Amino acid sequence: MAEADQSTTEDTLKQQATETTDGFHLVIDALKLNDIDTIFGLVGIPITDLARLAQAEGMRFIGFRHEQHAGNAAAISGYITQKPGICLTVSAPGFLNGLTALANATTNCFPMILISGSSEREIVDLQQGDYEEMDQLNAARPYAKAAYRVLHAEDIGIGVARAIRAAVSGRPGGVYLDLPAKLLSQTLDAVKAQQSLVKVVDAAPRQLPAPDSVKRAIEVLKSAKRPLILLGKGAAYAQADAEIRGFVEQSGIPYLPMSMAKGLLPDTHEQSASAARSFVLQEADVVVLIGARLNWLLSHGKGKTWGAQPKRFIQVDISPTEIDSNVAIAAPVIGDIGSCVAALRAGIDASFRQPGAEWLGAIAERKNRNLAKMAETLDKNPSPMNFHSALRAIRDVLKTRPDINVVNEGANTLDYARSIIDMYEPRKRFDSGTWGIMGIGMGFSIGAAVTTGKPVVAIEGDSAFGFSGMELETICRYELPVCTIVFNNNGVYRGTDVNPTGGKDVAPTVFVKGARYDRMIEAFGGVGYHTTTPEELTKALLEAIASGKPSLINAVIDEAAGTESGRLTNLNPQSAAMKK
Ligand code: ADP
Repeated sequence: MAEADQSTTEDTLKQQATETTDGFHLVIDALKLNDIDTIFGLVGIPITDLARLAQAEGMRFIGFRHEQHAGNAAAISGYITQKPGICLTVSAPGFLNGLTALANATTNCFPMILISGSSEREIVDLQQGDYEEMDQLNAARPYAKAAYRVLHAEDIGIGVARAIRAAVSGRPGGVYLDLPAKLLSQTLDAVKAQQSLVKVVDAAPRQLPAPDSVKRAIEVLKSAKRPLILLGKGAAYAQADAEIRGFVEQSGIPYLPMSMAKGLLPDTHEQSASAARSFVLQEADVVVLIGARLNWLLSHGKGKTWGAQPKRFIQVDISPTEIDSNVAIAAPVIGDIGSCVAALRAGIDASFRQPGAEWLGAIAERKNRNLAKMAETLDKNPSPMNFHSALRAIRDVLKTRPDINVVNEGANTLDYARSIIDMYEPRKRFDSGTWGIMGIGMGFSIGAAVTTGKPVVAIEGDSAFGFSGMELETICRYELPVCTIVFNNNGVYRGTDVNPTGGKDVAPTVFVKGARYDRMIEAFGGVGYHTTTPEELTKALLEAIASGKPSLINAVIDEAAGTESGRLTNLNPQSAAMKK
């Protein structure tokens, strides 16, 4: 080797040996190594450079106006993809804003990771009053599936790996990852740093059900005279669509989808018992729960909703401790939904009898009767328009675009839209979920639009919209194909309440009358529509979808339309007491 060549090689080797990296780069490298390509967040001390670097390194950074909505976007992205959605926030207040979304994700079994910068341990632990001081790790613990802190740059790879695995394995949920400011600027030898990264292998391993549990379930199913399948959002999350459809169709058992499981099979499927919901819940003798919990949304599996007919439950779930949480479960089948449903399907052999004509006939009769009644209500054209006539217009447009994501929140707006808007494809409906939370609207819309690249129609009550309305700017900034429809009836529930004292303040449920929400989006360059009839609403929605531009339709409805708390009057102490 020539002398000059030799010295160049030595220089390179020396340079490599002394090359360093830092915590900022390692966090990004660890996420990228695990195929995470998007961060939802809001910059500030100490994570602004982390966001800049993420973008410089080819990741998408979607910046929000409030951390809660960034967190909701991350959570819904996790639900859609089975990869943890990432939300990045600043310390204390930013972290706390994100925490609501983390808690909501955990409650709904959505995988997400909230990554927050934090103040230095030495100061926090001695409570010496740092800028945005807070013991974030302990604050996060009760609301997260898991919470971790990384103190040394060489542990970033392990920290991120643990966070990913905790978020998606078993029952998915929210994970908190605490990154103190000092960690991000720590330097580390580049080679060692590279070696410290972890590519997570099989993050959410399949969990096969025990054969005897499947046998027990099949026996219970075979003994049923009036069986019913209940599909929850766990079933939608599992992405076992063909297996689930196969099980439903092969067994011939009528099914009910919970709200976010709508579309797992098209709502128009002949085995759907949605239009006879009350009847089937009361009359069924064996109920197969697939990725659905017997929580308040199912009246805890007891009481009037479930009628006098004694029931036996088969429950398919990945979490063994979910079983018997509200009522006794005759046949638990524990494992991942794909494997469990495949095993149940295999058990549907020649000796299995599909449900009899009596049961199916009774359901069909109720269904037809209720559908006819609903059609009559939907066909009315009152002026001003009401929830039903407005939703009819939206339903008819969405029928032609089954690929569109639908976000839905509110009280009456949620209740009515859930039953009127049919879904045709899995994981296209995102709503207030297990908590019945308000404020997911724009966060979920942005998360769904960014993750799927498909249009979103957000059907929002005017009150619900208010929680995240400022994110219209985010939607416009990223030019997302989101059309928000605000059901404007001048108030929470409705706009007609009065202050009984005759004082100057309006009633607690009342908003500014005749508000022009459409003008809000115009301020950011989006397209606003003001509509007062179903025809105008149809036209606006068609145009908005066709253009793919950020848009908002102010749908003015009768301010007297809407009932207190939607269909949850029984949970409202005042109206429940008044009813007694
Ligand atoms: P819904 O509100 O639609 O009834 P829930 O959120 O109450 O649905 O229930 C979802 C259930 O699905 C949870 O109990 C969760 O443990 C379970 N689950 C989530 N993912 C899977 C999976 N891949 N396999 C099996 N069960 C799952």
